[in-house]
Amino acid sequence: MNVDVIARGRISELLELAKQMWGNDKKLSRRYVQLARKIAMRHRIKLGNRLFCKKCGAVFIPGATVRVRQSPRQKMVLYTCTECGAVRRFGRS
Ligand SMILES: [Zn+2]
Repeated sequence: MNVDVIARGRISELLELAKQMWGNDKKLSRRYVQLARKIAMRHRIKLGNRLFCKKCGAVFIPGATVRVRQSPRQKMVLYTCTECGAVRRFGRS
């Protein structure tokens, strides 16, 4: 198996764990996100901005840690991190 495939699998496992852990232990949840980011960096895998907050490291859980809003006039989707208030804008595809 390709190393990148294994790395991607590991990353999605870590992010899944981070989501499960968020309600119990935010510190541990953030640590999982950090690990996932490290693996991604090592393998030059792009994770994008929609999986977790790059500012505070909170994993994005719709309705819990991230508020997703549509901005119809600008044809944008706004992701607001409820932990640190960081806002990211994405063009709608
Ligand atoms: Zn944040």
